[in-house]
Amino acid sequence: MNNILLDYFLNYVKIDTMSSEDSNTTPSTMKQFDLARKLVKDLKDLGLEPKLDEKNCYVTCELKSNCNSNLTIGFFAHMDTIPGFSGTNVNPQIIKNYDGKPIKLKGITLDPANFEFLPNLKGKTLITTDGTTVLGADDKAGVSEIMTMLNYFITNPTVPHVNIKVAFTPDEEIGGGLANFDIKGFNCNYAYTVDGEIYNEIDYENFNAASCSIDIKGLDIHPGNAKDKMINASLVALEFVSMLDPKLRPEVTSGYEGFNHLCSIEGVCGNSHMEYIIRNHDAKLFLEQKNSFIDIANELNKKYGKDTVKVTIKDQYKNMREWIDKDPSCVYRAKKAIEELGINATSEPIRGGTDGAFLTRNGLNTPNLGTGGYNPHGPYEMACLEEMEMVVKILINIAKEQ
Ligand SMILES: [Zn+2]
Repeated sequence: MNNILLDYFLNYVKIDTMSSEDSNTTPSTMKQFDLARKLVKDLKDLGLEPKLDEKNCYVTCELKSNCNSNLTIGFFAHMDTIPGFSGTNVNPQIIKNYDGKPIKLKGITLDPANFEFLPNLKGKTLITTDGTTVLGADDKAGVSEIMTMLNYFITNPTVPHVNIKVAFTPDEEIGGGLANFDIKGFNCNYAYTVDGEIYNEIDYENFNAASCSIDIKGLDIHPGNAKDKMINASLVALEFVSMLDPKLRPEVTSGYEGFNHLCSIEGVCGNSHMEYIIRNHDAKLFLEQKNSFIDIANELNKKYGKDTVKVTIKDQYKNMREWIDKDPSCVYRAKKAIEELGINATSEPIRGGTDGAFLTRNGLNTPNLGTGGYNPHGPYEMACLEEMEMVVKILINIAKEQ
């Protein structure tokens, strides 16, 4: 298993699939097709019949049950890497039998003093960047692990398994990559994204999320004649900020605590604009947070005139737990698969969203599994090969007929 997994992984991370936020195309960058076509080829080499959606860059494939199972389980991984940091010319470094000491790369050091998980990986095989790019373990670790699971069932045809469906998809990092995905047609009982970090995690709670745009109109009058007339939109913006609960800021929250995050603020006397994101795992508290923005706007409009502050709130995604709680069999199955390997499953509330949140909300329960990757979205990104191998074993256990 070792070499197959590593070979897939090294091949995939070398293919540049950076997505872009400043694009109107689907997918956001055409180079994501380079990996999609490579995956189609590798799936065909396994004797499978993959499909490539040429419009949306979705690679899908099925491995039918060899024991007439009536259960169909889906596995998703995304092909793109983060737009914020280069994914071009990825030059993976393999460190065998890691000695637990700082790892010097070009211009940066992976230092155990800064990354507390590193000492635990002593003796393991690490795969790092060369310091100049992301690694793309997020999520090519997930892609390679799913491919290796398929490879296992094809080369071990006597091991009974359920119907397996896989989907490799674009643009997770910019959101919306699954907008055109045919969830009904994919036709699974439930699915998993293989896109987390900690290899034995199973995550099924994410934020409820909304964006909030605040437009403030002032009354711009020559400051010499402003008495009792001027409304300074920039100051009204600051007043707005001061009326929000300071305990609901990302820098003072963790775990299940939600937040309102001020992403941007700009203004002159005549007008000002703020962008917030609103996050909470709890639907009731989430609604209260959204309402607090409306209440503050109403209060300020009473003070300064009715069209001074305009608040526009848009829901972005919802906590998948709302649906998972109604049918948690996907969580039970993954927990059992992990525990069969003699390890404990861990669960953390995700402080963000996942592709699975979108899928779950639209009818396909899809919790998130770990990958064995670390430090995503920057040059410190790395993966542990032995943990990636454990993930493959977990995927195999999930897909085995039980
Ligand atoms: Zn990811």
